[in-house]
Amino acid sequence: MTEVFDIAISGGGMVGASLAVALRPLGLRIALIEAVAHDADTQPSFDERTTALSNGSRRILETLGVWPGVAAAATPIRRIHVSDRGHFGFARIDANTLGLDAMGYVLPNRALGRALWDLIRADPGIRVHCPATLAEVTPGADTALVRIANADGTQVLVEANLVVAADGVGSVVRGAAGIDIETRDYGQSALITTVLPQRFHDHVAYERFTDSGPLALLPLADGRCTLVLTHKTADVAAALAASDAEFLAEVQHRFGFRLGRFLQAGRRVAYPLALTLARRTSGARCVIVGNAAQSLHPVAGMGFNLGLRDAATLAELIADRSAEGRRDFGDAAMLAAYDAWRGRDRRAIAGFTDSLVRIFSNPLGIIRAARNAGLLAFDLLPPAKSALSALSTGASGRVPKLARGVALR
Ligand SMILES: Cc1cc2nc3c(=O)[nH]c(=O)nc-3n(C[C@H](O)[C@H](O)[C@H](O)COP(=O)(O)OP(=O)(O)OC[C@H]3O[C@@H](n4cnc5c(N)ncnc54)[C@H](O)[C@@H]3O)c2cc1C
Repeated sequence: MTEVFDIAISGGGMVGASLAVALRPLGLRIALIEAVAHDADTQPSFDERTTALSNGSRRILETLGVWPGVAAAATPIRRIHVSDRGHFGFARIDANTLGLDAMGYVLPNRALGRALWDLIRADPGIRVHCPATLAEVTPGADTALVRIANADGTQVLVEANLVVAADGVGSVVRGAAGIDIETRDYGQSALITTVLPQRFHDHVAYERFTDSGPLALLPLADGRCTLVLTHKTADVAAALAASDAEFLAEVQHRFGFRLGRFLQAGRRVAYPLALTLARRTSGARCVIVGNAAQSLHPVAGMGFNLGLRDAATLAELIADRSAEGRRDFGDAAMLAAYDAWRGRDRRAIAGFTDSLVRIFSNPLGIIRAARNAGLLAFDLLPPAKSALSALSTGASGRVPKLARGVALR
């Protein structure tokens, strides 16, 4: 006998776990399949990184009851400072001038993992399979059959009305559904670490474009900053192997002295960067969310924010159906509704991020001059800032209820 669920979620990383939490009040039968425990050293989603959260994401986490569990670990970003190394253009975005408390928050991924998984583990309606992988999915007329491979070598078969792929960029479910992807290898890797600057960051997030790629510094609660340093892939091994002193000298050279000297660096980890965009967000009896649907360059810190809106949208569509007493969450109408709702936001954010990387990687003088003029114009034009702020909170399409602070039930 196979156990039957309303929804099976493959992947309990940042987006899959958020979706499971969002579905809790609906009283559905949920199976959550995750390969690596949230607190394991090898967990690929809840690792040593920090995530820049938009205000919209904060509102979603608040409405889901997750925020109280992470608030103490979150650092507000009061201002964003964008500049181009060696050139005149720069732009500032100040939360105050936009009438906001903060432009966003910096949150350690591990803190988010703990808060989400505490809620998941406490919910009897969510059947957790972990450590286990979704190995195979076979769609049928009314349900899909899912084969789960447990880490101990045993296997379990379950049926689900809808399978949600939240299993990251190499998604098994997306592959099984035959959904094509577009990819662009940026030939870059993001090197992540923490640095301690001589001067207090004063809650400013810095984004600096340099000839070797963009650099971001995000404020942390203890006065350190998360550093995201983009390197050409060919150079990343040397940056990882450099001594702390050599590495800090390189960071100082790229960033300058706005925060004084950099005094200490943490452990360095590199992530290869590419754009991966699924051509569709659904297939037979399945929907794809988060990195399984789109994996972006982290330059603008928008990947998780976008994935969380995927989860909020899907949870709302499921809640609406369940409120009508309907249990078919994977029929063609439901999948089409999800595709239509997510299309605009995905295209806008993926296009914006990709253009940012390409414009700022372009060495041609005319592009360089235009981008400097662009940064200055942006600094002088409040409406442009409001537009960016709206784009990053997901206001470029229909905003899901959870992002407006409205609970699903
Ligand atoms: C360097 C870097 C910095 C970033 N900074 C930001 C930022 O500041 N702001 C922002 O919004 N975004 C940021 N992002 C993007 C963000 O990390 C991703 O958008 C986010 O991790 C996507 O979450 P996900 O759950 O969709 O996928 P993932 O994080 O990839 O998680 C997938 C999960 O699925 C599990 N899994 C995989 N295969 C299977 C299977 N077959 N069966 C079961 N489980 C499976 C994995 O173990 C994992 O837990 C950054 C990304 C990088 C690389």
